[in-house]
Amino acid sequence: MRAVRRFFAPLALTAALAGSACGAGAAERLQIATTTTDLKALVEEVGGGRVEVESLAAAAHDPHAFEVKPSQIALLKRSALLVRIGLDHEPWLARAVATAGEARLAPGGTGDLDASNGIALLQSETPRLRADRRAHVHAFGNPHYWLDPENARAMTAAILERLARLRPDERAAFAANRDRFLARLDAGLARWKRALDPYRGARAVVVHESWPYFAERFGLAVVAAIEPTPGVPPTPATLAELAQRMKASGVRLLIAEPWSDASLVRQVAEHTGARVAVLIPSVGADPAAGDYLALFDLNVTRLAAALAPR
Ligand SMILES: [Zn+2]
Repeated sequence: MRAVRRFFAPLALTAALAGSACGAGAAERLQIATTTTDLKALVEEVGGGRVEVESLAAAAHDPHAFEVKPSQIALLKRSALLVRIGLDHEPWLARAVATAGEARLAPGGTGDLDASNGIALLQSETPRLRADRRAHVHAFGNPHYWLDPENARAMTAAILERLARLRPDERAAFAANRDRFLARLDAGLARWKRALDPYRGARAVVVHESWPYFAERFGLAVVAAIEPTPGVPPTPATLAELAQRMKASGVRLLIAEPWSDASLVRQVAEHTGARVAVLIPSVGADPAAGDYLALFDLNVTRLAAALAPR
């Protein structure tokens, strides 16, 4: 631990110098770390120009397979707040926080915000699996709750409270930012519902169980997942059986993610004639999903295209 501290001291100094160099009279920005790009996007909506937010995990790869780099330990050390998805979404985080040696960022600490607090979780009855199985198995309820845009209300409310606690003088500015965001969110919800209303009740098979919140909000029925257990690939036998069932029951839509196994997706599509919609689970995982609202604009457009009558 001591060696780690020494190693990072020059980085911390560099950050401090950079901070003072670009201050230009404005209050120093609050440094916030998030575990995901979606949380980063929401903190930026509330914090505006008063925050500097970095996500530990990048958007463009499977969040389940993630390794913490030294630069990210440095980020944790200088952050006033760490915002995380919670549940079992970040199995790598405890070790990173311990390595950073910042007790305030540990669960329940003054600098810790678990964004799942106050969210009505889905699939929380999923039986808990052995801890040695594999990381990210949705053992505490489905963690992909940011994919219901209605949940952004509770998430940004929690973010607002924490930012205001750190900067009491700036509460009104944070609250005004959040109000503007919620107005845009409401307009988005009306737009997305309008686009997907014609397909209400449409059945879909997903690769990974990322979409229950999204599906519930927009009236899709997710009838099966290709992964028999979240994070575990199917055997050829279970895949063949699933394709058979899809065909027999006329399921015409397969929802994949950018990092889904392409040959697996192709096989199922070819065997069943289903259309594939590659939906984007996180802000930044596609260039067109640059912020939280753009993420839904893109996904709704792709989904409506896949569901449109041929
Ligand atoms: Zn998952």
